[in-house]
Amino acid sequence: MASKWTFIDQALDDRDRHHRRRQLTPITPLNPTQIQKQGRTLINFSANDYLGLAKHPQVQAAAIAYTQRYGTSATASRLVAGTFDIHTALETRLAEALGYEAALLFGTGYQCNLTVLSTLADRHSLILCDRLCHNSLLQGARHSGARLLRFPHNDLAALEAQLQAARKTSQAYNRIFIVSETVFSMDGDRADVARLQALSDRYNAILYLDDAHALGVLGQQGLGLTAHQNVDIVVGTFGKAFGAFGAFVASSRPVCDYLINHCPGLIYTTALPPSIIGSIDAALRLIPTLETERQHLHTQADTLRQGLQRLGYDTAQSASPIIPAIVGPNERALALSRSLEDHGFLAIAIRPPTVPEGTARLRFALSCHHTQDQIEQLLGTLGSLSTEG
Ligand SMILES: *Cc1c(COP(=O)(O)O)cnc(C)c1O
Repeated sequence: MASKWTFIDQALDDRDRHHRRRQLTPITPLNPTQIQKQGRTLINFSANDYLGLAKHPQVQAAAIAYTQRYGTSATASRLVAGTFDIHTALETRLAEALGYEAALLFGTGYQCNLTVLSTLADRHSLILCDRLCHNSLLQGARHSGARLLRFPHNDLAALEAQLQAARKTSQAYNRIFIVSETVFSMDGDRADVARLQALSDRYNAILYLDDAHALGVLGQQGLGLTAHQNVDIVVGTFGKAFGAFGAFVASSRPVCDYLINHCPGLIYTTALPPSIIGSIDAALRLIPTLETERQHLHTQADTLRQGLQRLGYDTAQSASPIIPAIVGPNERALALSRSLEDHGFLAIAIRPPTVPEGTARLRFALSCHHTQDQIEQLLGTLGSLSTEG
C-alpha cells in the first residue's frame, strides 16, 4: 500500500526540481540595517522596517510600559472581554489621523484581507482584482465565493472594460468590488488611487485598497496614499513601517459596525496584545515627525534604482523603497542572492508562485538607516558579479 505521506515527498521533490523549494533560515537582527546569519554579519536589504521603528527606543519603551500596565495578553476576543480601553483609543486615533470615520484592529494583514473580503463579498458578488495583488487578497476573494476576475497589472482601461461588461449583466451581481494595493509589494510600483476612485464612483463599485507598503513611507505626513481620500475600505498593516505587528481596516462607522457583527476573523480570535498596541501607538505618534528620514529613504531608493538600471537590471516600475531586480529564471535569482550573501549582503530571491512565472528577482527593500556607503557597496558588488559571470 502506498504511504499516506507520498504526497508530501512528491510535492517537496517537485519544488526541488524547479528550484522553488522554500526554507526557513534563522537570523539575528543586530540594528536597523544589519543582521547576523550563521555567525556572519550581513547588511539587510530584505526587511520592511522602512523607518527603523522596530528598533526605535520609544516604540520599544511603549511595548514595555503597556505590558507592565495591562499584562502580556488581551486574554479574550474583542467581543468577549478583549476590548481594552487601549484598543478603542488606538482605533479612534488611527481613524482621526487617516481621516476616516472609524477604524478596526485585526490580528495580521493576511487574516484581515482574507476575512474582511470574504465577509463583505458573497457568491452573488463580483471581485475585480489587480493581477499582482497580495496572496491574502486573492484568498479573501476566493473564500468569499464571489466571481473573481483579475485585471492586468495597473491596467485601468482593462478594469473599466470589465466594469462595463458587468454593468450589462447588472442583475447578476449584488455588489462589485475593485481590489488593489496602493504600493505593490513585489514590484514597488504604485496604483493610481484617484483613477481607481473615479472608476468605483462611475460604476458604483466598492473600492478596497491595501495600503500596507505606503503607510509610514508615502503621502502627507507619511500616512499613506489613502489617508483623507475617502476610499470605501482601506486596509493597512503594522508589521511594515510601523515596526510592530497587526493590521486595521479604516472605513465608515457602519462598515466597521457590520464587521464587528459579521466578520469571523475579528469575532473568533484573541485581540492584539497590549505590548503591540503600545508599539503601534508610539509609531503612529512618531511617523508624522519623520519627514527628514522619509526624504533620505526616497533619495537612497533613487540611488539604488538608478544604479541597478545602469548595471542593466530591470527594476520594473518601482517608485518606492521596494526595488526589484528582475532576472528571470529561478536559478539565476538564487545564485545571485547566494553570491551577494558571500559578499556580506542579505537580499532574498523572490520566485514564483509569489511572483509571475519567469520573473524571479532579488527584492531590495530599503530603510532610512541605510547609508549611501552601504548602497554603493551593494552596487559595486553587483557590478563586479555581473562582469565575472
Ligand atoms: C505584508 C502584506 C500583507 C500581510 O500583512 P501581515 O500583517 O504581514 O500579515 C497584506 N497585504 C500586503 C500588500 C502586504 O504586503
